Amino acid sequence: MTCLFCRILQGEIPSKPVYSDDLCYAFSDIQPQAPTHVLLIPRKHIPSLAFATQEDTNLLGHLMSKAAEIAREHSLEGGYRVVLNTGDDGGQTVHHLHLHLLGGRSLAWPPG
Ligand code: 5GP
Ligand code: ZN
Repeated sequence: MTCLFCRILQGEIPSKPVYSDDLCYAFSDIQPQAPTHVLLIPRKHIPSLAFATQEDTNLLGHLMSKAAEIAREHSLEGGYRVVLNTGDDGGQTVHHLHLHLLGGRSLAWPPG
């Protein structure tokens, strides 16, 4: 298996768990860009949002509501950002769909 995040899901590559259930797994980003930087991934391998289909609607909704739950657990009352980099121009480097949950500092807009 070559996908980095599938290998993390299998436990072949260690990660720092934040949340886990039947559909998804959340863990700390190895190179945090904010005091809280959590990656939330579906257990199903979807290369990017561009490959998601109608069949994935519930799964995508699940990821979003879990991101909000994790944000509450991390006391991000001041606000936070959920990012879904998609494809080369979107800055995606790992080709397994993932949400970034970033918070704990003021985030600039627009992003680079
Ligand atoms: P992307 O650029 O594809 O949106 O985000 C990929 C993210 O995965 C980056 O923020 C990067 O720091 C993170 N990342 C890459 N390799 C690893 C790893 O082995 N472990 C963890 N925990 N995060 C990783
Ligand atoms: Zn994968």
